[in-house]
This record gives sequence, structure tokens and C-alpha cells, in this order.
Amino acid sequence: MAAPRAEVVIDLDHLRHNVAHLDGLAASADTMAIVKADGYGHGAVEIARAAVEAGATWLGSCSLAEALALRAAGLTVPILAWLDPPGTDYAPGVEQGVDLSVSSIAQLDDVAAAAARAGRTARVHLKIDTGLSRNGCPAAGWAELVERAARTRTVEVHSIWSHLAVADEIGHPATDAQAERFDDAYREAVAAGLDPRRHLANSAALITRPDLHFDLVRPGIAIYGLNPVPAPADLRPVMTFRSTVALAKRVPAGESVSYGLSWTAKADTNLALVPVGYADGVPRSLSNRMDVWLRGRRRPIVGRVCMDQVVVDCGDDAVAEGDEVVLFGPGDRGEPTAREWADTTGTIDYEIVTGMYRPRVARTYT
Ligand code: PLP
Repeated sequence: MAAPRAEVVIDLDHLRHNVAHLDGLAASADTMAIVKADGYGHGAVEIARAAVEAGATWLGSCSLAEALALRAAGLTVPILAWLDPPGTDYAPGVEQGVDLSVSSIAQLDDVAAAAARAGRTARVHLKIDTGLSRNGCPAAGWAELVERAARTRTVEVHSIWSHLAVADEIGHPATDAQAERFDDAYREAVAAGLDPRRHLANSAALITRPDLHFDLVRPGIAIYGLNPVPAPADLRPVMTFRSTVALAKRVPAGESVSYGLSWTAKADTNLALVPVGYADGVPRSLSNRMDVWLRGRRRPIVGRVCMDQVVVDCGDDAVAEGDEVVLFGPGDRGEPTAREWADTTGTIDYEIVTGMYRPRVARTYT
């Protein structure tokens, strides 16, 4: 088989290890594996199957379409979908037993109407905005929403839920403030006659705030082995990005490399051409600023990252066409990690791995 031009390798053993570990950390709660955005770039269906094998009893997706794709792939566990525009037809979700998040009266009415059309009851999770000011019902409209939901016969309220803004900053007072508002929202729901379950914790809160686990935890990034919080957790990165040396050549001192000629060889040197570029997820801002892992050691990317290729300086060491190149991986051998890419480019590792969802990059599972 030909060596890969650009490939992400997804280690499902690592994924299963992470899910089982996180499930154990939140032993009193059920675990919802968040697989939106094609499983944070890892492949939603494969990740979902492995997560369920490892103990996740729920799946979380952003859009209803993502949830329906999981159902179509044969995943039967409860799935929560939480963000679609007004006018969405929720009937297929109700028919397929997808749990739907509701943030407003208008959305509640849409879901209830869809349930009536489908001749079924819709199971919903009422979302309260406790301080993130994103999706979720503002506190001012909450009492009306819970009362209306309690009176709507085609809707069964499973949970109330919310999302945290700064759980990754340990001890930040805003997390406690959000937890208090969440408590208030719960009391109002009970006063309206509901008996809902509760869920609030993302990966960071799962790891650092056992008091916020409630009935269900919702880890995303941590199941992919990336720890969002400076607290210990036994996580193994799931994604490795690799390629293959396409061309090896020796150039004399004084030769410059790639568009803009931004790097010049100080001595005669061996260069390796790696056929991946910014079209494959290598940020152009890594030009002259990142290493790859090649023949058991780090080698610098020299010159500009192009659309389809980067050049690596190997000095006087041997390099050959066909050699494996690891762009990033778990880091246990010394190779760069997604976190290192993120730190160097001024983003977060979420964006790095999610950005690997590209048609030109092959994905294989081990
Ligand atoms: N819950 C909701 C509503 C989310 O939007 C996300 C991700 O953004 C998560 C849970 C998982 O968050 P994390 O990846 O930080 O664990």
C-alpha cells in the first residue's frame, strides 16, 4: 500500500481508555460523550461507537442533522442535539428518539408541534443561560418556560441544563456564580411541577468540580485525550497527524527555501519535502516555528508553509523518500503535540484537532 500523503490516525484504544477514565472520575453521574463537529475532527460515528463501548451512555451533538447521522449509523443510546435555527423541522428527531434542547418558548412550541405531527412525545432538556450569554433561556424568561413546558402534553422534560464559561480556570468565581443560578433555575423548575435531572459539567468541570457532576457529565475535549485544565487526569491523546517524505535533496549553503525565501541554509544540508500544507491543516503561521518528528528526532520546518507542502531541514543526517513524518501526536516519543501547535499559533488544541476534518486528509483507525 502506498505511504500516506496526509493522514490522521485515530487511536480508538486511547479513546476508550479516556472515556472509561472520565466515567470513573464521575462515577455518580452518567457520561455523555460529545461528538459534535464530526467528533472534534476524529470521526463522529467511529468515536461514538468506541465511546459507548467504553461506558458512555449518552451522546451529544450540536445539530439535529449530526444526531440523525448517528442514529442512521445504528447508534441507539440517547442523543442530545442542542442548536438549530428557527424553522427547523424537529419531527425526524422526535421520530428517531433524539432528545432536543429547548431555550425559548418559540422553540418549545416548534418541538411540541413536531411531536404532535409525529404522534409522539418529544423528550426535551430545558437550557438555562447561567452566564455564558450564548444558547440558553435568560433567567428573566425561565419561569415562563418551565411553566409552559410542564403544561405541554407532547413534551416530556428530561433535564434542565447549562454550560460553563470558565471552568478551565480553576477557582474562577464565575463558575460558582453560574452554579448558583443553576440551583435557582432548578428550584423554579421544581416549583413549576417538574422533576428534572440536571447536567452542567464539561471536561474541565468533570475533572476539577465533582460538586457539579449532578446526574450527567458532558466531556468533549477530554475524551480525545486533551486536558483543558491544569489538573492531573490520565488522558491519552487520540489523534496523530502524519505524512511521508516525498522528496529528499541536498542543497548548498546559501540556498533559500519556499515562497518569500524566508530561510537560508547556513551550511550544506539535507532537506526533506513533506507533501502537506495549509490545505491539509498545517497553519501557515507555523512557518519557521515548528518541528516535525522524523527518523526518531525533531526536525525544524524551514521556510513558509505552502498550500500543499512544507520543507524540513535534516542537517547532515540521512533522510530518504518514503520516510514517515509525524506532524503532531500524543507527544510520548517527543513529537510535537496539538497543544504545542495551538500554543505556537495562538489558539487552543480544540481548534487544531477539529480543523483536521478535511476531505484531503485520510483518516484511519487503530
Ligand atoms: N456541552 C456543550 C453544550 C458544549 O457546547 C461542549 C463543547 O463545546 C461540551 C459540553 C464539551 O466541552 P469540552 O470539550 O470543553 O469538554
